[in-house]
Amino acid sequence: MSNTKPTKRLTPASSETLLTLLETLPGALFVVDDAAKIVYANASAQTITGATREDVLGKPLWRGAPQLVSTALYQAVQQTRQTQAPSEVEYVSPVTRTWLHVQLSPTVGGLMVQVHQGRAAARREAPVPQDERLSIEDLNGLFSRIGVLTPEGIVLEINEVPLAEARVRREEVIGYPLAETRWWSCSPTSQEQLCAAIARASRGETVRFEAVVHLREGLDRHLEVVITPHRDADHHIAYLIIAGIDITERKRAEAELHALIDAIPQLVWITRPDGSHDSFNQRWRDYTGLSTAEAQGEGWMQCLHPEDRSRVRSAWQHAVQTGGGYETELRLRQGTTGEYRWFLARAMPARGETGQILKWFGTSTDIEEQKRVEQQLKESQESLRVLAETVPQQVWVRRPDGLYEYTNQRWRDYTGLTLEHIQNDRRVHLQFIHPDDQDGHLVHMQHALDTGAMFEYEQRLKQCQTGEYRWFLSRAMPMRDEAGQILKWFGTNTDIEEQKRTEEALRQSQERVNVLMNSSIIGIFFAEDEQVVEANETYLRMTGYSREDLCEGRMNWLHMTPPEYLARTLEAQQELATQQSLTPYEKEYVCKDGSCLPVLVGGVILEHHPLQAIGFVLDNSARKELEQRKDDFISMASHELRNPLTALKLHTTLLHRQLAKQGLQGSAPALSSMETQINKVTRLVEELLDVSKIQAGRLEYVWETVDLDALLREITDTVQQTHPSHRILVRGAVQTSLMADRDRLGQVFTNLLSNAVKYSPSAEAVEMDLSTSAETVTIRVQDHGLGIPREKRDKIFDRFYRVADPRQKAIPGLGMGLYIVAEIVKHYGGTITVESEPGKGSTFQVMLPRKRT
Ligand code: ADP
Repeated sequence: MSNTKPTKRLTPASSETLLTLLETLPGALFVVDDAAKIVYANASAQTITGATREDVLGKPLWRGAPQLVSTALYQAVQQTRQTQAPSEVEYVSPVTRTWLHVQLSPTVGGLMVQVHQGRAAARREAPVPQDERLSIEDLNGLFSRIGVLTPEGIVLEINEVPLAEARVRREEVIGYPLAETRWWSCSPTSQEQLCAAIARASRGETVRFEAVVHLREGLDRHLEVVITPHRDADHHIAYLIIAGIDITERKRAEAELHALIDAIPQLVWITRPDGSHDSFNQRWRDYTGLSTAEAQGEGWMQCLHPEDRSRVRSAWQHAVQTGGGYETELRLRQGTTGEYRWFLARAMPARGETGQILKWFGTSTDIEEQKRVEQQLKESQESLRVLAETVPQQVWVRRPDGLYEYTNQRWRDYTGLTLEHIQNDRRVHLQFIHPDDQDGHLVHMQHALDTGAMFEYEQRLKQCQTGEYRWFLSRAMPMRDEAGQILKWFGTNTDIEEQKRTEEALRQSQERVNVLMNSSIIGIFFAEDEQVVEANETYLRMTGYSREDLCEGRMNWLHMTPPEYLARTLEAQQELATQQSLTPYEKEYVCKDGSCLPVLVGGVILEHHPLQAIGFVLDNSARKELEQRKDDFISMASHELRNPLTALKLHTTLLHRQLAKQGLQGSAPALSSMETQINKVTRLVEELLDVSKIQAGRLEYVWETVDLDALLREITDTVQQTHPSHRILVRGAVQTSLMADRDRLGQVFTNLLSNAVKYSPSAEAVEMDLSTSAETVTIRVQDHGLGIPREKRDKIFDRFYRVADPRQKAIPGLGMGLYIVAEIVKHYGGTITVESEPGKGSTFQVMLPRKRT
């Protein structure tokens, strides 16, 4: 483009002429100052702008003549001002849609702008230089809303869409700062956003932002705005292109989505394609107490449990890199309480049409309860396992198909099988079951499987190491799901070998007890206090009572005891209470029919039933009868023997006298010896007679005053004569006379002295000590002989009792002497006791009351 018109300075004289000239010019002419404000506009210029001269004067060219404004003009103005060289530009007016040809000439402190409307078609069709082609039409197809701004933000061009939407005319906008147009001025926020963006773009930055613009009353639009700086050849920012995409629908969809997301009961979060967190639903924000701004990017990680951070971070990075699904469990802190809860975080990418990731949508579901239940389940499973390992039983778990799922160590130790052995063999346990128990086992197991009832079976199981079978009680219970389906069988094997043995022993002992109870020999009864509460048939038969009597409590052993046995029975009762057992003793029962039955009674008290006594009773009548017969025989025999003996003794004495008279002394020793033997037999017979009298309670006593010292002297002399082997030493005196039977009393001491001599064959002397007190006289007979063992000392006073010691047995005797002695002493109200030391000797002490009571 060339400029042929020379510029010259206007002088005041010529200014009139010049103005007139300018007025007449066919084209519109504007003179603008340095700030591009119109200082002059000719008549044609007024026609183009449609405004009076006064309207346009003082206004920037862009606003005063919006019909002219275009990027091309703007650029040309800028260029002419910079270069101070004339230039021209052709373009289509964005307002009037007519071709304009504008010539620009620099003036002193300003610029002259000459505008020619329309031009040759040929020229119009000629290609225009590249940088002049930037027109709004070119951009129309690309963006719905587009404009060109000066770096200051003044609108140079704008396309139809925004004008139509806002129902404004182009000239109302062109030349005005965009921020002051209707779109942006209604909302201070939007206005500020725009101004800030323009400022940044004019510094060379491409700026993107979202903003709400106002179109007209009641109609706003959400735009995504991009402002791109455009540089000239010198790299100066020549102008800014502003483009807006209507994202109102998207925003509304997003808002709906957010509303929807807020309604989801999970925590929801949305990230950008790069994985950085962008937004969070209300629930998320409420839970964490973080605002969107605080949580954006990686800010949300502050509410993630520190222990989970690196794991979650790498899982998330992996998901973002691979674009696959993301699922992980993590703990999130609750903002208000500070407590962490478990969440299941899941995310999926949302993809665009070409498959590129637009966003990630994530949810975090609270699984704290589930976790707790899982944990509890784990714990309870663990406790079950520990329990299964600690119980003294063998424990096993089998599936419904019969395969083993678990066995405890005890089971494995007993069978010697490992977990691998059992996992594939449902019949593995059969080899351990005793062959005799296998069928029973299978039948019971099948029944349990068929009916779902508990399995219970006693069987012998083989110990793997010893090969020995032990008895076990095997039990199994099914565990079912909610639908009642059997999931597993839980089983135990309890070792009952000991129990079995005890049972067997018990059974045997029970059998023995039964035999005993049923025995017809021993009467057995159980008594509580005096009441007989249970008894066997034998006992009932003995006593004549019926079982009905027993059941109705009509059997009372105290009532069944005759008065003469009462004392002995109570004594026995005492012994039983203190020693838990009773030495058998003889007594009688009064039977139901009033007859008396001699019995031998023993008893025990069981440790576990201290209130119950068990009595054992033997019918003693046969023995008693025998004894009676024996006593009768002794009595009879001694009587029968006494008479011939008396006759024999008499004849011997007579013979002795006759032979003496006849002077036949030669037969005298033989006769004496005969007399001695006869005396011995007579004494034995006398003693037998005494014994049988004592038995019958008919021993007679003749009462007279007896000088005890004289009696004792007489006796010792006699004994000394008959037993010359020992010296009989008498010490002291009693100086007492007693009312007594002289012979019977004499019998006591004769016996004691004879025994003392008899049972001390190696000794030389026996001693008799006599003493007296106010109440009693005491006679002690001491020897240095064989002595009597302790346990025999009580028995030597029993009838016919003799110590069985071989040395004692070698000494002749019939065991009657001390029985008679004790009876006589007792008859006088005295006592007889013995002290003895085997091998050293014995001392018998008789104490007699001085006065008979
Ligand atoms: P026996 O005719 O057998 O002597 P006793 O009734 O007099 O009968 O005595 C009973 C038993 O007591 C005797 O068999 C004897 O074993 C024992 N005995 C009696 N006196 C003495 C004694 N002084 N020393 C040792 N044992 C004696």
